[in-house]
Amino acid sequence: MSDVRSITLIGSTGSIGTSTCSVARESRGRIRITGLAAHRSWEKMRDQVLEFRPDHVALVDEDAARKLRESLPAGIDCEIHSGADSLRHLAALPDTDTAICAVLGAAGIPPVVSAIRAGKDVGLANKEALVAGGAFITHLAREHGVTLIPIDSEHSAIFQCLRGERTEEIHQLVVTASGGPFRQFTPDRLQTVTRAEALDHPNWEMGEKITIDSASLMNKGLEVIEAHWLFGLDYTDIRVLVHPQSIIHSMVEFRDGSVIAQLGIADMRTPIQFAISFPERWEIGYLPRLDLAQIGSLTFEEPDMDRFPCLGLAFKCGKLGDTYPTVLNAANEIAVSRFLADRITFLDIPRVIEGVLETHDSLPASSLEEILEADGWARSEATRIADRVS
Ligand code: MG
Repeated sequence: MSDVRSITLIGSTGSIGTSTCSVARESRGRIRITGLAAHRSWEKMRDQVLEFRPDHVALVDEDAARKLRESLPAGIDCEIHSGADSLRHLAALPDTDTAICAVLGAAGIPPVVSAIRAGKDVGLANKEALVAGGAFITHLAREHGVTLIPIDSEHSAIFQCLRGERTEEIHQLVVTASGGPFRQFTPDRLQTVTRAEALDHPNWEMGEKITIDSASLMNKGLEVIEAHWLFGLDYTDIRVLVHPQSIIHSMVEFRDGSVIAQLGIADMRTPIQFAISFPERWEIGYLPRLDLAQIGSLTFEEPDMDRFPCLGLAFKCGKLGDTYPTVLNAANEIAVSRFLADRITFLDIPRVIEGVLETHDSLPASSLEEILEADGWARSEATRIADRVS
């Protein structure tokens, strides 16, 4: 492997995308960005193009791509792509080692599939791809000899704990959860929480959608499904543990009773860099080091599935399999966007999802078409139910 890793960054203007740019900036030339892709934030994209000088850029929105083209000074030598297929195209660029897939939601599935088909290693920050299409995507990755390197902090932790270990010697995975901003709220208080309160996460700075998912514990539920597919364990062997300090990012318990944990400060640049430097580890001098004496104590508690029903719904859908997780994910995306628009309450989120699940006729989820069909059905059903609720 050469000293310089070339990456294509799909979803470059979002939270993970911006952090990945920061990792590349600090890498002292070890990371070369050959492609940048996003939906429509052309001004952010222009700054990134001027800084990183990629060979290819994609903006899905045609109008935004035109604005980007017009705003770039002469002499910037980069090909600008646009349209619905442009993300897939960028994910498969020939001179790229790793595709970092950081597009939010189900929209991020096609680029992941395209990167795998092109034989790229995938730095996977889009958890919805594995939730909605886990069987299909992991099968495809095996077929193409592609490594899926998780960027989600919990899965990066488990991935690191499992280096050199055997899957059959695992007793259980312990996925840690901060518990979110409402960890200690009573059921009554949960009825009146606002958008602003839900967006105020105690430990992590993230995009809006995932921050709401953290408050409802749906994020942890989606991560359980993600862990099932990434590491090939049954749902009965995956446990969620609330750990409010977010220092232990997750653990693996082996059959001899040994538990291996991965610890670190709560900064996404660590798992992002690891996904790019893997199997090496690089200096990361610009981040503070973990100081456990200063933190003092680490605490743990059981998650409360009564107050946070989204977590239970995710376990249930994971166990049911087929397109149930696809539908869970899509219905959640709609419900969260309605909550963010102040159209439904926080506790309506699981109600909308449950309503959609009740009428779902599942499919095997063995092709991209089936996955996208179930996804589309769940979105319109969730929209219908959310309209009735609001
Ligand atoms: Mg996470």
